Amino acid sequence: MRATAFYGRIYVSFRPPRAVDSLLAVNGRVVLEGDRGRVERACRELECEEVDIDRGVGLPGFIDAHMHLSGLAIQDSGVDLRGVDSLDELRRRVKEFLERHPNVTAVLGRGWDESRLRERRPPTSADIDDVAGDRPVMLIRVCGHAAVLSSSAMRRVDLRGLEDYIDIGPDGRPSGLVREGAVIRALRQLEPPPEEYMTYVAEEARRLALQGVTTVGFMNVPLKLMAGLTSQPLPLRLRLYLDADSVGLLESLGVAGGFGNDLVRVMGLKAFADGSLGARTAYLSEPYSDDPGNRGRPLLGPEELRSLLARASRLRLQVAVHAIGDAALDVVLRGSEGLRGWLRVEHASLVRDDQLPALSGLRVAVQPMFEVDDLPWIHKRLGQRVRWAYRFKSMISAGAVVGLSTDAPVEPADPWTTLSAAVNGVEGVGERLSVAEALDAYTRGSAEVLMDRDVGSLEVGKMADLIIASGDPLEVEPGELGKLRTLATYLGGSGVQ
Ligand SMILES: [Zn+2]
Repeated sequence: MRATAFYGRIYVSFRPPRAVDSLLAVNGRVVLEGDRGRVERACRELECEEVDIDRGVGLPGFIDAHMHLSGLAIQDSGVDLRGVDSLDELRRRVKEFLERHPNVTAVLGRGWDESRLRERRPPTSADIDDVAGDRPVMLIRVCGHAAVLSSSAMRRVDLRGLEDYIDIGPDGRPSGLVREGAVIRALRQLEPPPEEYMTYVAEEARRLALQGVTTVGFMNVPLKLMAGLTSQPLPLRLRLYLDADSVGLLESLGVAGGFGNDLVRVMGLKAFADGSLGARTAYLSEPYSDDPGNRGRPLLGPEELRSLLARASRLRLQVAVHAIGDAALDVVLRGSEGLRGWLRVEHASLVRDDQLPALSGLRVAVQPMFEVDDLPWIHKRLGQRVRWAYRFKSMISAGAVVGLSTDAPVEPADPWTTLSAAVNGVEGVGERLSVAEALDAYTRGSAEVLMDRDVGSLEVGKMADLIIASGDPLEVEPGELGKLRTLATYLGGSGVQ
């Protein structure tokens, strides 16, 4: 029997906030909380390990309801293009990476944003071919919805059927820029071999755990990682969502929702109903204020969604649908009638007043850091409609099940940064949550979005996923939330090293 006792100020849950002075975990789960005398007696009998939380405060681990663990691994193991301000700088970083990694089969990078480039346009193959040479190079935009491929990478990948997502240059030939479905398809063909890929993912999982995240909703899991993920224990609970086109494969294998164990479980599929506001591809009911002919477009119709939900529900799988624009949310609401229990909506960045009642009982994963990132352009893009953006508080009031997330690597994975954004946000965009509401959404709320009854609080029976924070988030000044740190992480009562 493996037992750990924790002594000190420990928050068990946040609706309302409830703190205890002690907690006992046996074989991974909480068996006693809040009665120090009993915990000490039981601890002596079980010869348990004792942890004194004297320097900080205990909390349930954060649950990042929506992130891309493999994308984060690629960003951190590949060319990091965040903050690049010119095409020359972009080329320099690729060149430097190639010099440091002479044996890599394909170069992947992530993080460019043309609105930050001096040239104010996305890169094309012609911009990177001279530094890339024969080596396939693929550089993904910060949002994940666009990428540039070198000419050698364009030759290597098969994008048949996705011609709509391949940009054509002024000379009538592909420019190297691809979008949406073509990004994932190209990435799947250029990703590292499984064993190498798993080492990057494992490093990332450990880094996340030490930051205070104990469970993640891992979106768009590459199939080539499935064997590694299900056989190699990582210090992080993974709830897996595969690309929607894997539904046939799951059907033929008979893999149902919940397949796996406490650490790693298949939970569902991921589909896209539209693009992003940044790229003006999110589907709006009225045109963009700074692009009058354009209101984005749907990537999925209601009938297509209904059929996917019906197939998924037979296997007790969730369907997580990316919907950013208000019109995309209309499509999702229409296509999910009668099957909402298996639906989770990702982002729901723009919600009109008339849509709020329909969110009652709906699972929604939101990203507080988006409003911080969108600030430079969101007023121009949306005009008056900015008031519909990031309505976390209204969603909760309407009865939605709201979970917090980062969409990392789109946003930083650090949970304290995210918590601070949920509470403090930015002037003039989105709604604020109280600290208790944000902590509740980032633990219990996210667990409910993931349909996971084992995590989300430190009540008796739950997994003993406990972190020690450097301060009490409910006591510090809201402006200081982003400065809190995770001092230690325990997954199922065991310390993560
Ligand atoms: Zn995402």
